[in-house]
Amino acid sequence: MAFSFEVLTTPETGGGRRGRLTLPHGVVETPVFMPVGTAASVKAVEQGVLEMLGSSGSGAQIILANTYHLYLRPGHELIARMGGVHRFMSWGRPMLAGSGGFQVFSLSGLRKVTAEGVEFRSHLDGSKHFFSPEHSMDVQIALGADIAMVFDECVETPASWERTRDSMGLTHAWAQRSKDHFELHKERVPWFEALNGATQSLFGIVQGGMYADLRKESAERLVEMEFPGYAIGGLAVGEPREVTREMIARTLELLPKDKPRYVMGVGYPDEIEEYAKMGVDMMDCVLPTRAGRHGLLFARDAAGAIVRMNIKRKEYAEDSGPIDASCGCVVCRRYSRAYLRHLFVAGEPLGLTLNSVHNLACYLDTMDRVRAQLAGIPPPPSKCAKV
Ligand SMILES: [Zn+2]
Repeated sequence: MAFSFEVLTTPETGGGRRGRLTLPHGVVETPVFMPVGTAASVKAVEQGVLEMLGSSGSGAQIILANTYHLYLRPGHELIARMGGVHRFMSWGRPMLAGSGGFQVFSLSGLRKVTAEGVEFRSHLDGSKHFFSPEHSMDVQIALGADIAMVFDECVETPASWERTRDSMGLTHAWAQRSKDHFELHKERVPWFEALNGATQSLFGIVQGGMYADLRKESAERLVEMEFPGYAIGGLAVGEPREVTREMIARTLELLPKDKPRYVMGVGYPDEIEEYAKMGVDMMDCVLPTRAGRHGLLFARDAAGAIVRMNIKRKEYAEDSGPIDASCGCVVCRRYSRAYLRHLFVAGEPLGLTLNSVHNLACYLDTMDRVRAQLAGIPPPPSKCAKV
């Protein structure tokens, strides 16, 4: 089956729900956290390890790839010739690719926006490029992630109401153009024949900055266009956390209950838990891997609250305990804080890998627990006994 989403359980209290998302490359149990593999690689973590991440050992169900980065290098046409991004990177499970909009709009000073699209300069070599909604769709179809995203404009933060409204208008026009072009060309996806005529699914993106009235207008307009799923974009860009939460809550109320809802680019482990319990089905963030590469580890204290640990600190130099005694990941089962500190201080690449593997496990375990809570069952047991 190419695409289906089924809500399995909705507890009587709270807005969270358990769901099952079926995609051409497999089934995703929601709410889900999606590790980010920007350049067709979750930085420092090999695909075989991704497949067995977390205390349950069941691994990442779905990962992200980045359209902007892969378009620039190695190029979407090369990836299409290699059979699409799944085959290129040897990842058989579901994937989602961003439209490249967010990355293009992060290149401040390097871009020019018109109604037609956006001209930008590559951060790699300064070469000039142009993305229109149609071109973004062609690139995303060539990459062949299971879920593609409409090309949208991301407004800078803070932005005035007028500026945000104008940007949102452009986003809506581009969403329709993205959809029209996608529908015409979706059968060009590299695995169309191999997967018996399955195609990608295109999600819409609600914008509207930090203005509840604009978020409402954007959600209504996108819902009219009828996408199989909806993302809430333009959040976690420096605004206070209460504002992020309010914008998510206000937008969720307006999105169809029978479609998956994806908040892009959030957040800390306690935030993803909170949003999942509000009814968000999908989230992604570079934080677990980026923090890991900087020696910042997430652990849980005795009460289960998230604590941040800087592995560089001298107090860990002779600490023979694991990062987190309550974590059943491969790193915590095997390695001490002292060894991880040594690897980090010595600049050993293995340190970056192990830190990332643990942090990703912390995120996936968080979602395992939330899914179990929403289903009213005990959380899944750890695959291996603690050492
Ligand atoms: Zn761990």
